[in-house]
Amino acid sequence: MLNIKNLYSEVDNNVERLILLHQELIKIESVNSGYMPTGNETEVADFCSDWLKQYGIESNILSRVPERGNLISEYPYSSGNKQLLLMSHSDVVPVENYEKWNKAPFSAELIEGKIWGRGSSDCKGLLASQMMALSILAERKIEFNEKFTLVCGSDEEHGGRYGFGWLAENHPEELMYKYAVNEGGGSPVTIGNNLYYLLGTGEKGRLEIKIKIRGESSHASVPWMGVNAMGPTANAISQILNYSPDLDCSTDIFNYLNLFGIETKPSIENLELIISEAYEKNPSLGSLLRALSRMTITPTIINGGIKSNSVPETIEMVLDVRTLPHQNDLDVSKALDKILSDVPNLSYEIDYMAKPNSSPFETELLEAIKKSQAISVERDDIQWIPAVSNGFTDSRFTRDLGVITYGFRGTHPEDNPNTENVHGTNENYGVKSLISSSKTMLGIIWELCDPIT
Ligand SMILES: [Zn+2]
Repeated sequence: MLNIKNLYSEVDNNVERLILLHQELIKIESVNSGYMPTGNETEVADFCSDWLKQYGIESNILSRVPERGNLISEYPYSSGNKQLLLMSHSDVVPVENYEKWNKAPFSAELIEGKIWGRGSSDCKGLLASQMMALSILAERKIEFNEKFTLVCGSDEEHGGRYGFGWLAENHPEELMYKYAVNEGGGSPVTIGNNLYYLLGTGEKGRLEIKIKIRGESSHASVPWMGVNAMGPTANAISQILNYSPDLDCSTDIFNYLNLFGIETKPSIENLELIISEAYEKNPSLGSLLRALSRMTITPTIINGGIKSNSVPETIEMVLDVRTLPHQNDLDVSKALDKILSDVPNLSYEIDYMAKPNSSPFETELLEAIKKSQAISVERDDIQWIPAVSNGFTDSRFTRDLGVITYGFRGTHPEDNPNTENVHGTNENYGVKSLISSSKTMLGIIWELCDPIT
């Protein structure tokens, strides 16, 4: 009789197929610059659709514009309730500087257990693993009593207006499942011999602030005839970089610190001390607690001046702001007004990119994940912690539709997500994680969707 362990060994028996699939996905340059025309995700969707078809899985590609397709692949041998959605995205962020990469960013070379390339970690590793899980089940025509479907969206890296955001608005029925697993969480943290997984139950919000600072232009040979906008800009930047935000310990993770051996009950007064204690135990944990205890405001883009011999009249700046689950745009403008109060001739606009969001922690999906991951990485002592991610993903769209959505990739404990250089130079993904993730995806389906064996 089939069980999770037999299915897991099918992943081990087909590692080459899995690696090749991952490499083929990376080689498709689905770069999303944020400015149309961009993305080219339909090429990924077509490739996936053809690949899955070999195993008897039919796909549907839905798109707002033809070149930015969203892949929807429903498992063919299941009926009943819509139980599980396997989510990922097909676009990748641009390569900033090709010269700095050790290998060509879209060559997907496998070196010493890692596959290198833009998108290898974010998010084509998870996509490959989910496709692999589906193919192993479909190959054997295993029937299930509950439905599950893979949805790979476009445009995740620029707000999802062609991807999950568009699907949620125009085809919500395609996403209305009880549970979903997606990227954006599930990092392993090792402290001593203890292994923890930080399950992504929620996400900080993200806003973009566009700041305009005005001066008055003049010829640069007589600068006193104008007002150089760089003066107040320098002031504004230094105020933002020196901003110390209000601290907060209301996020769920602060109730679980004892599992990490941090016995002090967190409060605003001792929070910085607790965070430095966490840094000593594990730098990733320290960094996470730091992110989950405050709003962050970071200048990311600056533009100004039109000619080398003109005093610049306007300078524009963009700030990236991440808010905690209970903070809204009012909290952001309050903070900004305080920081920028003595900068003259400045105005700003707030653009909401993603609202903060969360799913409950104790669910049937959590139990399925716990069981599958334990067998997948052969550890029965894993501790599970609910974590709000400091980035955001398409999970906000499905959570908004009432789908209980977790960020969980099934990363192998020997792979450190912090060295995957997501969005950076030399992005990479461990083959061990590719394998453990495929197993975990299989296990979650097996546990949640009621196989007929
Ligand atoms: Zn991603």
